[in-house]
Amino acid sequence: MQSHADSYYAASAHSVLDHPALHDNLEVDVCIVGAGITGCSAALNLAERGYKVAVLDSHKVGWGASGRSGGQMIFGYACEQHTLKKLVGDTVGRQLWDISIEALTQMRQRIDKHNIHCDLANGHLHAAVKPRHMKELESWANSLRQDYGYDSLEMWSKEQVRGQMSTEAYLGGLYDSASGHVHPLNYTLGLAQAAAEAGAQFFEYTPATRIEQGEHPVVHTPHGVVRCRHLLLCGNAYLEGIAPDIERKIMPVGTYITATEPLGEERARQLIANNMAVADINFVLDYFRLSADHRLLFGGRVSYSGLDPVNLADSMGKRLRHVFPQLKGVKQAYTWGGYVGITMNRAPHFGRLNGNVYFAQGFSGHGIALTGMAGSLMADAIAGSAERFDLFSRIPHHDFPGGRLLRTPALVLAMTWYRLRDLL
Ligand SMILES: Cc1cc2nc3c(=O)[nH]c(=O)nc-3n(C[C@H](O)[C@H](O)[C@H](O)COP(=O)(O)OP(=O)(O)OC[C@H]3O[C@@H](n4cnc5c(N)ncnc54)[C@H](O)[C@@H]3O)c2cc1C
Repeated sequence: MQSHADSYYAASAHSVLDHPALHDNLEVDVCIVGAGITGCSAALNLAERGYKVAVLDSHKVGWGASGRSGGQMIFGYACEQHTLKKLVGDTVGRQLWDISIEALTQMRQRIDKHNIHCDLANGHLHAAVKPRHMKELESWANSLRQDYGYDSLEMWSKEQVRGQMSTEAYLGGLYDSASGHVHPLNYTLGLAQAAAEAGAQFFEYTPATRIEQGEHPVVHTPHGVVRCRHLLLCGNAYLEGIAPDIERKIMPVGTYITATEPLGEERARQLIANNMAVADINFVLDYFRLSADHRLLFGGRVSYSGLDPVNLADSMGKRLRHVFPQLKGVKQAYTWGGYVGITMNRAPHFGRLNGNVYFAQGFSGHGIALTGMAGSLMADAIAGSAERFDLFSRIPHHDFPGGRLLRTPALVLAMTWYRLRDLL
């Protein structure tokens, strides 16, 4: 059986509980398909409210993107606020913005309340690689301050960035003290443990192979059937074949991370003195941070084909040394990847099928914090307060043309344009 992806996170995970596979028929209030942050967050919230909850995952809790990610918890949405406002108008845009900020607060509160050991650290920098990036970041910061009073942002010059990071790669950046980073697998496992303690039942190695919608949805698995009143689909980029209407709206895109061997505290702090997370603002971006045991975790590259890039570790090493040439000769201990689910407009895709089947997907690479809110907004909707969940259904979404395989060429064309733009 495939356990967690071979990564630095799997190697440093704690409290990995083993949950049984489902070998029975079950009747619950809510069945959740997918035990990433979205599914675990919903399970926690619902179990705390007294619902009988079953969570199914085809692999292990946290096996998907939630247990592999860069761990960067960042304000806002992947599509950026001005795009969101164009899609839904100023009022709903503002409400959605508030939810993205609440997502950061909720994450910190849950880590604290449930005593989740996940190496939470503060601070995030959006780094500028080109002069036009500085202008974009400045105008972004100004509008977030003026329109929403978001005041934890600071524009940094090249010298200020150099004061915190030993690299010449950036011309400056936008620092946010309210954002930060975590060990994403330990965070996900901690949420799942809290949900289990509140009464949610988890079943691992239990793929949902077919769903029947209706007043009482039925979820079929290889060795048992779950009947429920509400069904939550939280499989995101890994959901395949059970809900084609929503699967057509997202495209799984591979992204990758390499972790160095431990560098020692002093050398690590020379790279990033204040221990913030960093991402540049190219469309195909580099993102990196230090781990609690003083490694550099460096992410980037993408694959649209479903296949990992050839010579992945070498090419990740080149990117890493482009930013930090002083790491020449340092060993890369782990390299891994996973899928993000991106939508055509890069705004998240939440909604319902048939009234009682809820879904939240398409975080477009910006989901560590928002997934937590996605889960609790679904729980709120089931408990009778659907207003905030339903705000997301105001965002218009288009199918990727063709089936799962044919989605790729259209996206590659679009991405080629963005990649070219990265070079300008
Ligand atoms: C390499 C990488 C780096 C990233 N870096 C960042 C970052 O720094 N910051 C950020 O905000 N976001 C980042 N992301 C995105 C972020 O990780 C995701 O948006 C988020 O984790 C999605 O969580 P989820 O719970 O919706 O889905 P997932 O965590 O992918 O969980 C889905 C689960 O559903 C299960 N599943 C699917 N289908 C079925 C089925 N039929 N039956 C049963 N189970 C099923 C899967 O096994 C999986 O465990 C990154 C993603 C990747 C891959």
